[in-house]
Amino acid sequence: MPGAPGPAVTPHPTRKPGAFPQALRVMAPEALLDAGERERIRAKSAIFAPPGATLADGRRELVGMTREQLAAEMVAIGEKPFRAKQLWHWIYHQGATDFSVMNSIARPLQAKLSEKFVIGRPGVATEQTSSDGTRKWLFRFRDEQQVETVYIPDDDRGALCISTQVGCTLSCTFCHTGTQKLVRNLGVAEIVGQFMAARDSYGEWPTPTGGAGDGEGDGGRKLSNIVVMGMGEPLYNYENLAAALTIIMDHEGIALSRRRITLSTSGVVPMMDLCGQELGVNLAVSLHATNDALRDEIVPLNRKYPIAELLAACRRYPGASNARRITFEYVMLRGVNDSIAEAHELVHLLEGIPAKVNLIPFNPWPGSPYKTSTPEALRGFAEVLNAAGYSSPIRRPRGRDILAACGQLKTESERARRA
Ligand code: SAH
Ligand code: SF4
Repeated sequence: MPGAPGPAVTPHPTRKPGAFPQALRVMAPEALLDAGERERIRAKSAIFAPPGATLADGRRELVGMTREQLAAEMVAIGEKPFRAKQLWHWIYHQGATDFSVMNSIARPLQAKLSEKFVIGRPGVATEQTSSDGTRKWLFRFRDEQQVETVYIPDDDRGALCISTQVGCTLSCTFCHTGTQKLVRNLGVAEIVGQFMAARDSYGEWPTPTGGAGDGEGDGGRKLSNIVVMGMGEPLYNYENLAAALTIIMDHEGIALSRRRITLSTSGVVPMMDLCGQELGVNLAVSLHATNDALRDEIVPLNRKYPIAELLAACRRYPGASNARRITFEYVMLRGVNDSIAEAHELVHLLEGIPAKVNLIPFNPWPGSPYKTSTPEALRGFAEVLNAAGYSSPIRRPRGRDILAACGQLKTESERARRA
């Protein structure tokens, strides 16, 4: 809300934000306990692994490889590893999809590269633009699986909302994606590819230089921010997402600052520390309820990681500060979680966390069981938060006419039946 005062930050009674050096935070007992749980999450994630980098014709997909992997591919075909640096520039700075435009590489090598490799993009199954300018793509991957990606324009910039999974294992009761079983995780190339394809669509290659990726300016580009808020739970596909964001943040490529990236989680507590330490992106947490009984029901993951644990993970999220607050998302469901009493409970819960709250009017989808809160309820709820010093904008629904708003994404992809 414009002009809203900053949040009243009352230090947490047992752990003052920023009071511990980073190394000690890493060793906090909660984090150690989480290590085993993290392994289980990783093992499960591997079961839903995406297809590998080799196409049916034997060529290999270069998008999604790390610099080291690219160098190894060059060595494997008898070329010098420095070729990887050139390729990186052409792929991620220039946005090239064809080796023949790479004029720093001699023709014979261009031909050799095109025999062995591809620089792919997800296929565009459909592309729709909403009356409010929001654009939604249905992307189709090599194995025919599909996800949706949304671009939300703002005045002089905009955010791309990217997906991380085909479907979702969680089944939050207000979310359309939650009605689609998890089919599989997206791979690194498929996650980066959503951004690259969107850039193709808006003609924003090459990466603008000068202030473009350092968080100071955005070089005037439309695709200035990324929100990891599309289909799926990003922290259940952490490895692929982390590799993809590392590519996107690389200074010699797309060069998007971590300050321009926000990851939304429904609360996978054991992965939150890791995300903060390794990626340092902005964190958004889908809270949606102020007590465990209700949150257990509408965000079933709460039964595993209840509110107190979730908020403790937020309190220790590396990098959270008054300047970089954690966003709490709160979907406003009429008569379910939108009372004034709950607004006061929310203020109480957030004590000591550098926080802002996004109030998201519920976006309906075919067959959805809820109604959007009334404008009065939305206003009243926001007023309580604002009075307590929390910035709490009411999100304007975007792209509802093309089912592109928060929680409306879903595709036809289904898990293949086991023989
Ligand atoms: N899985 C992640 C990110 C994707 S959902 C998560 O749950 O955080 C992005 C945001 O949209 C989340 O806050 C989610 O709770 C919210 N959302 C889901 N369904 C919604 C709906 N129908 N209306 C409004 N917001 C919704
Ligand atoms: Fe999955 Fe997020 Fe939807 Fe919950 S809100 S079902 S975690 S995509």
